[in-house]
Amino acid sequence: MRNIYNELLCIKELILKCPVDGSTLHADQAEAHTGYGCKSCKGSWLPKSYIDSIQYTKEFEPQKFFNTLSNSVHATSNSRCPVNCGVLSAITDFNGISYCPSCLGVWFEPKALKKMLENYQTKRENLVVADIPSATIGVFDLLAALLK
Ligand SMILES: [Zn+2]
Ligand SMILES: [Zn+2]
Repeated sequence: MRNIYNELLCIKELILKCPVDGSTLHADQAEAHTGYGCKSCKGSWLPKSYIDSIQYTKEFEPQKFFNTLSNSVHATSNSRCPVNCGVLSAITDFNGISYCPSCLGVWFEPKALKKMLENYQTKRENLVVADIPSATIGVFDLLAALLK
């Protein structure tokens, strides 16, 4: 039986466009989490579900992060949300980061994501590997792949 919901998800993924140059974003998938990278400008688009999952590998509080974004000074950008919700808000306090007020996805210019993650201590070092569910290791490896 055809699953219409899954088909819609596929269509949605196909039309993700880079907010900067309009290139099609490529999914880098690991386990259940997907981030999207632009091969032209090397920017990364991380959906909210992805940002939420960072807390499993970093000393990171997603709620605080989103609060910080929404409380920061915004500048309206000309970039459109890749999911097509509307225009992204550029965060003037954080160079190279924009986010979508509707779907809470975050666009990172190259290096901005790496810089941000460097501010958060890695949890992995302090844990026995067996304590970490494999899905979260996937997220960590995916981040590394996006930052290549
Ligand atoms: Zn791009
Ligand atoms: Zn959006």
